[in-house]
Amino acid sequence: MAKERIVVKIGSSSLTNDKGEIDQEKLDDHVRAISALKQQNHEVILVSSGAVAAGFKKLGYSSRPVTLKGKQAAAAVGQSLLIQTYLEKFLAYDVTASLILLTRSDFSDRERYRNAFATLSELLDRGILPIINENDTVSVDELTFGDNDMLSALVGGFVHADRLIILTDINGIYDGNPRTNPNAKKFDYLENITETMLAAADSNGSKVGTGGMKSKLLAAKTALSLGVPVFIGQGEGKNKLLEVINGKGNGTYIANQGLSWVNTKKQWIALHSETAGKIFVDQGAEEAILYQGGSLLSAGVFKVKGMFEKGDVVEVLSTNGFLGKGQVKCSSHELNNQIEQHTLSKRAIEVIHRDDWVESQKIGEEIK
Ligand code: GLU
Repeated sequence: MAKERIVVKIGSSSLTNDKGEIDQEKLDDHVRAISALKQQNHEVILVSSGAVAAGFKKLGYSSRPVTLKGKQAAAAVGQSLLIQTYLEKFLAYDVTASLILLTRSDFSDRERYRNAFATLSELLDRGILPIINENDTVSVDELTFGDNDMLSALVGGFVHADRLIILTDINGIYDGNPRTNPNAKKFDYLENITETMLAAADSNGSKVGTGGMKSKLLAAKTALSLGVPVFIGQGEGKNKLLEVINGKGNGTYIANQGLSWVNTKKQWIALHSETAGKIFVDQGAEEAILYQGGSLLSAGVFKVKGMFEKGDVVEVLSTNGFLGKGQVKCSSHELNNQIEQHTLSKRAIEVIHRDDWVESQKIGEEIK
């Protein structure tokens, strides 16, 4: 079997109980199954939730706290307990685990994004198991990844994973809610996540976690857009993850023929960078960048909004609306000068090179 790079995401309800404690048996089962993958030489990255869920009891809460400070304090306690438990349990299988706590800003800052990539690659090259969670203790609401389902999809795209396995407490995607509708039918395979599925999905998560089926579908959609096939489901025992990669998993496989990885720079432009301004282009430029594989030249720009420097990311719009995002090769000042001199100057400058451009259609609506 070919060696794969696999991102496994485990949610809070698959790691902890309702009382705010780690469920040792459940955790043992995951550790055994991940170790079995590693023994077969697969590279694994674990995205593990459960920090808040494993910590709130020790703070004296009887259920998952709702205040920000309550959640953040619970995460500080729970994350430590969780990693301590993982380290001990993985060691029994000769697997060295490591902890990476990420915030959204680690991804939006290009330098930190590159560093995170280098660190992850080094850990994987050396056979270490990276365990990733959001750095809940310092993440503020507006600047989070949303939930760990989305984080796992972004990590999957980031490391060019061969697949993303989202383990949850339900065995896949159904055409209705199987908990309330006994006639709901399970999908074994899906090619895409459609708008209808998203509209019908339940956004309520468990009592201890945050995501529901909707967040899993959104994550799957993002992973697919980055070229990563997805499995959503459940399983038990040492072989549960090996079964997933052998096509025998208890859940839904989501993949299609058209998947291809998006390079990390384009992922950063599309999904993580902060935009510094807007550029409005004419029809000729729109055609060049959307249909002719061209770069954006200053001759096609008729208006600039905002102030930006060379290297910043901007939105590009035409009279037809939003076209995509790109990293600029000149500042707004230079570009404005060019526009003023359109009629005088014959030489157009390159504003966005093809390689630094991501079309809105290619990456889905998350791009904005
Ligand atoms: N990062 C959160 C935690 O570890 C969980 C987020 C989620 O449930 O998606 O508690």
